[in-house]
Amino acid sequence: MSLCAGSGWALSVPVALTGMVCVGVLLLMRWVTRQRYFPGRESFILLHAASLWWMLAAALEMAAQATDCKVFWASMAWPGILLVPAFWSVFLYQYVNSVRQPLLLRHTLGLTVVPVAIWLVALSNPWHALFYGAGTAALSVEPGSPVRYQHGPLFYAAAVYIYLFMAFSMGVVIRAAVFSNGVHRRHYLAFVVLTAVPWLANISYVGFGWTLFGFDPTPFSFTFSLLAFTWLIVSVRLFDLLPVARHLLLEALPDPVLVVDPQMRVIEANLEALKLAGLSKDWQGRKLADWPVFGRDLQGLMRRQDPAAADQLLALANSARYFEVRLRAIERVTRNGTIVLGQMLYLRDVTQRHVGELKLAEALVVSEDRLRTISRLHEQLREQALRDPLTGLYNRRYLDEFFNREQARAERERTSVALALVDLDHFKLLNDEHGHLEGDDVLKGVAQHLLSSLRASDAVFRIGGEEFLLVLPGVDVQEARQRLESICQGLASRPLPTRSGVRAVTLSAGLAMWPAQGHALDELLHAADVALYEAKRAGRNRVQVCAQV
Ligand code: GH3
Ligand code: MG
Ligand code: MG
Repeated sequence: MSLCAGSGWALSVPVALTGMVCVGVLLLMRWVTRQRYFPGRESFILLHAASLWWMLAAALEMAAQATDCKVFWASMAWPGILLVPAFWSVFLYQYVNSVRQPLLLRHTLGLTVVPVAIWLVALSNPWHALFYGAGTAALSVEPGSPVRYQHGPLFYAAAVYIYLFMAFSMGVVIRAAVFSNGVHRRHYLAFVVLTAVPWLANISYVGFGWTLFGFDPTPFSFTFSLLAFTWLIVSVRLFDLLPVARHLLLEALPDPVLVVDPQMRVIEANLEALKLAGLSKDWQGRKLADWPVFGRDLQGLMRRQDPAAADQLLALANSARYFEVRLRAIERVTRNGTIVLGQMLYLRDVTQRHVGELKLAEALVVSEDRLRTISRLHEQLREQALRDPLTGLYNRRYLDEFFNREQARAERERTSVALALVDLDHFKLLNDEHGHLEGDDVLKGVAQHLLSSLRASDAVFRIGGEEFLLVLPGVDVQEARQRLESICQGLASRPLPTRSGVRAVTLSAGLAMWPAQGHALDELLHAADVALYEAKRAGRNRVQVCAQV
């Protein structure tokens, strides 16, 4: 500071203008701190602070009258000069990559190590002259004349450090512009142009000696770029959508929600989504397909289906959970049309409902199965109710149904139906002599004999103890008589096997015809019974046709 003790100060127009720029940067910085969040905001604010330092030192250098004092303030400017490109790089990186976590304090402090070292080197220049050479001197003898610096090797080392950061910044924005499209690309292209401005200013100063107020224009160009950046970020508000979605929707929701960009990178995820994936950090920008638990399935689902299609089901085999996935495009309407910025994926947990549906379907299958069993049993019961358990023949219950059907058919076909009432001869005697069980065996044998004598259209019923009714549709009286006589003779000629030997048994039959002996079943049975009585009276083992035929 002693260097400036006798310097004297002059408030020239350039000094006043530079001071105003300083105030401008300060106000801008204050204003940015009150703006809504955008990625890299902390670095952006630090960038303002570094820029302000630089501009303040520049203003003091301009205002100082003595050359030594000017060189002192030029040295004082170095932390600002070096930190501007460093924070510029960090900010651009965070902004274009949507990095929401601010730079850690130790990283921020790490970035100041080299600038502080170079600062100390610059301040100690009077002892080593490695930063500014001995040829550093005022341009003219007039008081306050600008200084022409002769640069030493350490100055160039500092310059390399700066250019490395500047090149990195340029790379970051060019890459962002190349890999984005639509409104994002235009936004990043503007960033490229604005990042190029300080480069051009610096090249024109170093290469062509172009100055502003007789001074290096680089700090002023940085300030200009800062202003333009702020305007771009705040006015375009490209990233507004995310904080709004995040606070209003995402975090409050009990269901997982993700936002993916057109390259299928996850740029936003709420707590539920992170919980489901088991992620807590380093997830931003990760490809959806690389997300644990559901990423691959979800991406597959999105590829397979039209996003506008109905909601789709995502089944997580590992955790037996089911999600209904809703896809909604996030669009931005511009003058040139609608641009899809990304998609919001809403995963609604429908495990309970889905499991319920599965159980219901299962229960339905079981009940259908039961219904089939019941129907089968019912059919069996009906069949059993219509059959006689001893002989297996139809019983009286089925007779009405069968007769009505055959009668209708005979009416249509104009044919007749024969009914033959069959009664075993002296069966009581057989029972008495050989026992009831043997009588049963004989009854079964007779049933078999009758069945084997029938045609497909005929039917035989056991309608009493040892009485049977044969219904022969479509035959006339002669044919019926012949067939009955053959049955009668067949039985008489073939004794039936029983449990204790063979037993000869004969039958008598009374024959009645529909419609000749009546229309109703009762009438016909009565007529057949009368004929049967005749057959018995005439000596048994014979067939008697109803007398009225
Ligand atoms: P008929 O020649 O006059 O017909 O002489 P019948 O002895 O056969 O006389 P009836 O028809 O009156 O006798 C019927 C006998 O049939 C009476 C009974 O003992 C016997 N019976 C009836 N139902 C069954 C049965 O389910 N099993 C056995 N084993 N016998 C039966
Ligand atoms: Mg009888
Ligand atoms: Mg009898």
